[in-house]
Parts: sequence; C-alpha cells; structure tokens
Amino acid sequence: EPVFEFRGVSKSYQMGESTVYALNEVDLQVREGEFLAILGPSGSGKSTLMHIMGCMDQPSAGEVLLDGEDVAKVSASKLARVRRSKVGFVFQTFNLLPKLSVLENVMLPMLYCHRKRADARKRAAEVLEMVGLSDRVGHMPGQLSGGQRQRVAIARSLVNDPRVILADEPTGNLDTASARRVLELFGELHERGRTVVLVTHDPRVADVAHRTIVVEDGRVSESGALTSFVGMV
Ligand code: ADP
Ligand code: ADP
Repeated sequence: EPVFEFRGVSKSYQMGESTVYALNEVDLQVREGEFLAILGPSGSGKSTLMHIMGCMDQPSAGEVLLDGEDVAKVSASKLARVRRSKVGFVFQTFNLLPKLSVLENVMLPMLYCHRKRADARKRAAEVLEMVGLSDRVGHMPGQLSGGQRQRVAIARSLVNDPRVILADEPTGNLDTASARRVLELFGELHERGRTVVLVTHDPRVADVAHRTIVVEDGRVSESGALTSFVGMV
C-alpha cells in the first residue's frame, strides 16, 4: 500500500469570473521508502501539492489517501491529528521557535502529542544526535548557522516517527556547503528506510533523489528529461 495516493485531485480558486486551477486532476502515488523530488517552475502548483500532502490544506475535488485513509474531506481537527502523527514537515525558513532551546524545539511535536516530558527529552536527544548536533542541544536557534538550524528542523520533523518527511525548498536559504550537507542528510534518512518528498529548485537533488516528477500548470508528469528541465529553473 502506498503512503500517498492522489486520485483526480484538483484545487481551484475562484478569481472573479474565472476559476484558477492550482492543481488539475492529479493522480500520483508515493511508495513507502521512496525519495521523491518535485520540480517545477514558480506558480506551477508545487506548494499546493505539498500543503495537501502535509495535511495543511484540502483539495476542491478528488481523493487523498494517506495510509489508505481518505483525508480529502475530513474535519479540520481530524486533519490536524493526522498531520501531527503521520507527517514531518521541513520549511525553507526553518520555522524554529526563537525563545526555545534546540532541544525544546525538537521536543515540541512530542509534547503536542501528549508524550511524557522525560520521553520527549530522550527521543529529542536521539534525533539530534542522528543529525550531528549533539553538542548544540542547549543552544538557542539564533546561535546556530542556517545549515545547523535546518538540521534542527529536520530532527524536529523526525521526532514523532512520521510516515513521511515533506520538505519544501529546504536548501533555499542555505549556502552551497550547508545545502549539500542537508541534501546528504535527506539521502541518509532515505537509506535508513524513510519516505522523503522534497520540493526543490536545486539541481544537486538529482544526486540523492530516487524518482523525480515535474509539476507544470497544475499537472504532474514523470520526468524523463530531468537535465533539460534543470536548465529552465
Ligand atoms: P508553486 O509552489 O509551484 O510556486 P503554488 O502552489 O503556490 O505554486 O500556486 C499554484 C497556482 O495557484 C498559482 O497560479 C497561484 O497563483 C495559485 N494560488 C495559490 N494559492 C492561491 C490562493 N490562495 N488564491 C488564489 N490563487 C492561488
Ligand atoms: P505546530 O503547532 O508548530 O504546527 P505541530 O504539532 O503541527 O506543530 O507539529 C507536528 C509536526 O508538524 C512536526 O513534525 C512539525 O515539524 C511539523 N510542523 C511544524 N509547523 C507546522 C505547520 N505550520 N503545519 C504543519 N506541520 C507543521
């Protein structure tokens, strides 16, 4: 059973007289353990696709099966529960809370899920070790480099052991060396069996991803000609 199955998924917005389709009848499967890269020009529908996968938004039409359960029409509170238990999200801008320590930031998703504080602390320390930041647990986000902040955010996305890690332009705000390190980290997660979906403009992602799809005008296609596409972005 796939982690995600999209069946005829559309998202439309009414703009005065006309209807704008951010996504137009998308069919897509994300299989367990796969590392999927999503490419596409600005305005093509990538964020809309990621927000629907991340249970932050719902489609206007179609089915979105996550672990076989259709989340396209569930209530907002049910959607939030699914998001917290099944999805880890990594943002371009890290989205760490500046007044909490690195350890506390990573503990937070577990506390939202009513896990015991001592368990949250132990698990947060484990995932921070996994991303190579054991020596930074007591630091504040403002004391870290961009690349380190993004690795904290990746640790946070892992802490509840989600079914899938979704990352939206995770290297967009990083220098070359940090971006490479972050991409390598996603590659390692994939090698350990994680399911990873990553939106990017970064051509180096081709070195780590295992399948690439292209979004254009709200439609999804498998990428046969990735190299020619990279020239466009
Ligand atoms: P990308 O992430 O590839 O840049 P988006 O998913 O953000 O693309 O947007 C896809 C299309 O949907 C764009 O044409 C955008 O203008 C439109 N769109 C996205 N959100 C809204 C909204 N809230 N209202 C109207 N149009 C929207
Ligand atoms: P928040 O209240 O910060 O959104 P959640 O309880 O939704 O926290 O966090 C659960 C998971 O979702 C974590 O892995 C976290 O990294 C990720 N996440 C963080 N911010 C958001 C967001 N705005 N929407 C959805 N997921 C988020």
